[in-house]
Amino acid sequence: MSQSGPNAVGVDNTHRRKWNREEFLERARQREEQEEDGRRSKAKGPAVQRKPLKHRDYEVDLDSRLGKTQVVTPIAPLSQQAGYYCAVCECVVKDSANYLDHINGKKHQRALGMSMRVERASLQQVQERFELMKKRKVVSTFTEKDLDERILKQQQEEEERKRLRREKKKEKKEKAAEEDVEEGDADVAALMGFGGFGSSKKS
Ligand SMILES: [Zn+2]
Repeated sequence: MSQSGPNAVGVDNTHRRKWNREEFLERARQREEQEEDGRRSKAKGPAVQRKPLKHRDYEVDLDSRLGKTQVVTPIAPLSQQAGYYCAVCECVVKDSANYLDHINGKKHQRALGMSMRVERASLQQVQERFELMKKRKVVSTFTEKDLDERILKQQQEEEERKRLRREKKKEKKEKAAEEDVEEGDADVAALMGFGGFGSSKKS
């Protein structure tokens, strides 16, 4: 094979793959252009006007599952896994501090359609807010009687919780004893006609 071009310097007798430099240079240039375009259109993206930050209109629930036992499997849906689930972003964060950071964070607020900017308050708004706070302060002064009442209420709730827990435990034990009389409660075992060989634990 012989080439007779104007640039033919010699005969190519190697069998290496040859690249058409000009063609690939052109391709690289096009790719770079495309990437540049992509970047520009992405930069145009945030032109969407997001609303300024607003107050939360709900209480953040951090301790409703405190002290509870839960079986966690890796195949459970995200909302039932260990930690705090955010339904907006469909993610789970592992503790309350991170959860607070998350729901106050940029990503979450964006998902809610808000930017991280706050509206600038007018002088009148500030004055109104001060008035409101003053009023609220007067209302929230609670007496010792209130405190006593609250303590009493807490105690009652605690008793109720304990009672429920005890009942549940008992139910569980009874069920377990029905299925398998291993080490049931003494009275459960006696009820079923067995001598009390189990531990006579008082619940
Ligand atoms: Zn979120």
